[in-house]
Order: sequence, then C-alpha cells, then structure tokens
Amino acid sequence: MTVLDEKLEPIFNQVLQRNAGELEFHQAVKEVFESLGAVIAKHPSYAEGGLIERICEPERQIIFRVPWIDDTGHVQINRGFRVEFSSALGPFKGGLRFHPSVYLGIIKFLGFEQIFKNALTGMPIGGGKGGSDFDPKGRSDGEIMRFCQSFMTELYRHLGEHTDVPAGDIGVGQREIGYMFGQYKRITNRYEAGVLTGKGLTWGGSQVRTEATGYGTVFFVHEMLKTRNQGFDGKKVSVSGSGNVAIYTIEKVQELGGKVITCSDSDGYVLDEDGIDLALIKEIKEVRRGRISDYATEKTGVKYFPKGCIWDVPCQIALPSATQNELNGRDARELIKNGVIAIGEGANMPCTSDAAHLFIAAGALFGPGKAVNAGGVATSALEMQQNASRDSWSFDSTEHRLAEIMKGIHDRCRATAEEYGAPGNYVTGANIAGFIRVAEAMRALGVIWSPALRQEPCSHQALWPKR
Ligand code: GLU
Repeated sequence: MTVLDEKLEPIFNQVLQRNAGELEFHQAVKEVFESLGAVIAKHPSYAEGGLIERICEPERQIIFRVPWIDDTGHVQINRGFRVEFSSALGPFKGGLRFHPSVYLGIIKFLGFEQIFKNALTGMPIGGGKGGSDFDPKGRSDGEIMRFCQSFMTELYRHLGEHTDVPAGDIGVGQREIGYMFGQYKRITNRYEAGVLTGKGLTWGGSQVRTEATGYGTVFFVHEMLKTRNQGFDGKKVSVSGSGNVAIYTIEKVQELGGKVITCSDSDGYVLDEDGIDLALIKEIKEVRRGRISDYATEKTGVKYFPKGCIWDVPCQIALPSATQNELNGRDARELIKNGVIAIGEGANMPCTSDAAHLFIAAGALFGPGKAVNAGGVATSALEMQQNASRDSWSFDSTEHRLAEIMKGIHDRCRATAEEYGAPGNYVTGANIAGFIRVAEAMRALGVIWSPALRQEPCSHQALWPKR
C-alpha cells in the first residue's frame, strides 16, 4: 500500500472527516492521492492555493425527493441525486445510475472519477454524476416512465447544454433517457438535444454511443497488449456483467479474435467454453430484459453458477464490467495464479485497491476504469458536437474517432507514467495526466474573490480578522 505524501495526508484526513461514511468516495480519492505525490515532488505549486482541496469538494450537490405512483396505485418515494463536481473543463458531464445501492457516497465516487476520466479524453467536459436508489428490476415500462418523469421534474432546472449534461449508467439506457428527455422538453418547451446524451438514433443520438464504452474498453486493452507485442487473437477472455458495457465488450473482443467464456448478472455467472453466443445474450438482455440464467437454459453445454466467483475461471484477459469492488484481493491472486496477463476495468472502480496493487506488482497490464472505460463519455462528447452543429455522422467515422481517442488516452497515460518515474503503471499515468489538465484549468479560472470587499469593508466584515 502506498504511503501518502506528507502534504496530501492532512487533505485526505479532511476528506474523511467531511464526508463521513462515504467509503467508496474515500477509496476513489485515496487512489488518486497515491499517484499525486510524484506530481507535488516535481511541481510543489500544485499543493498550493487550496487546489487539491477544491478538487475534492463538489461545486454543487443536489439531493431531492422523487415521488411516483406504481402500477398498484401506491405512492413510492425515492431519493434523487446530482453531484456537480467540477466545471473547470466544460459543463458538468456524467451519467445517471438507478440502483438500490445508490447513496451519496456512490454518486460522489463516480463524480470524482468522472472529473479525471473526462479530462483524459482531452475533450471540453467537466465532471458530474447523478442517480437514484430506485430499483428498476421487475418494474413495468409504465412505472419506469413515471419514475423518469418525476425524476426529471426536479432535475430539469439544474440542467442545460452549457450547464450540466447527464447520460446513462447502470439502470439507465436509451429508454430511460427518452422518457427523461421527453419530460425535459415538455417542461421547458425547448428541443434542446444537447442536454442529455445517449439518446435514440432517430431523435438526436449518435452512432456508436451504445457500443462506445465496451468498444473503447477493448481498444484500450488492445493498445496495452500491443506494448508487449500481443493481441486478443486466440486469447481466453473473462467478462463480468451483461449490461451495455459487457455486451459490446464481448462483441469487439470477438471481432478481434478473442474468445469470451463468461458473463454474469447480479444472480450468478455463466461459463461457456465454446465462446459466448452474442446474439443470444443480446436477445435475452436487450430485447427480453431477462436474466443471465436463461442463457444456460437455452444453450447446451453452458454451466450456470448462481454462487461462486467468476474470477476463479482461468483466463488470460479479465475485463470486469459489472460494478464497483466486484474483484477483490483474493480474486486478483487467483487470476494471477491462473496466468492473467491483462486486466481492463470496463466498469467504474471494479477492482478493490488491494486487487489493483496486486496486479501491478505481479507485472500484469492493468488499465484503470477512468482511462479504459472513457470511450462512453468521449462518444457522449461527440454526440454533443453533432447536436451543436445539427449534424449526424456515420457509424464508421464515429467509430474511427473513438478508436483515435482511446489510443490518445492510452498513449497519454503511458507517457505520463514514464515521465513521473512509474513506467508501465497506467494508474499513475491516468491520475496524473487527468489531474494536471484539470488543475491547470482551475488555476487559469481563478478563485472567487472580490477586491472591493477588501477595500471598503462593511461593518459586518470589520468583525472578521483581516487577511
Ligand atoms: N456513465 C458513463 C461513465 O461512467 C457515461 C457518462 C456519459 O456519457 O456522460 O462514464
């Protein structure tokens, strides 16, 4: 475990105190701080002016009640969140997550990660995240629609194409974005396409946005493999999850010649030694909104494990694409023992911090989520570009842009890691490259300050010591 720099230690303690109980947020901040010691050693000025303290404090946090009526006529109450973390580089940008595990600590960890992820893309987008503890599992289409409408009835006043632009995340896809966009349009009387991304192709969405996080993950891991003269061809790959990220990760791995043998949902995982049948997974998850256990019932030779750990399955490449902290130290040891050579975080922070340290210490290629899965938000920024110019691009040219962006992120992480004395460490590279871009913008924009107040203090201000 890395010891924090002596200038960062008190800042971290302050983060713990101010944000008591928000464990995932603490974990995300600590992971970034572990990399920043090298920056401060080289450029001590980054530790001045409250710069790092400011990055750790969201610009604005909104928590609201979401009342809605279920199919039995009962009123249900959920809690909605939007954490607008940093607008130094552009409007707040980041997804909305609907999942029962959502609380402020989850949204803050995601929002914090998003600042650096978005910075790494090189595009003009700030960082934010939102969501609700609403559980979409088992809810009818009508219930989903009424929930989304109620959620947007409060959130709309905080959004705008130049202010804050949400998108999807776990539990929020094109259907939910549609219902929310409809409600935004109804309330504001504006067809402001750039206010949400991940829209449908027929009403302002971008080609490749659906595929982008998964495709981008594979592009990034492919770049990592190339540094060791390797590729996906003929490799056994384990993917967790079966949502949007996992499905399009599997698709691209297969295109590049790899064999994906697992996928999962919150009930269990499947092992298919013949290679996952992508058409069947899409039919079950995207069309029927069914469970992964159906895959084992419908295809012969597939094993379903309602219990047990997906990471016990031997593979050369592991792509955790389900949720945070789904792969721990024990799992990392198992994967290393079984010969894993590369790990790419398709989800946000799926590896616990000890797992990440173990992979790096073992010399495996380890790509952190804020770099690896940045293809989703990068394509959201491409969607915003198309909306702003009232244009729509072809699939091929958009995918080409995505591939270039992912190569850019990869090369930036690698070069930065090298420059700061940690060659091959993508965690250090991603954290430092993202941090410097945000920090430079924050410095350029200044801290709120009114010289007039200083010259002519009113009587109330005279009560306070002069600075
Ligand atoms: N939720 C995605 C992420 O974690 C995408 C966010 C977006 O497109 O704004 O980056």
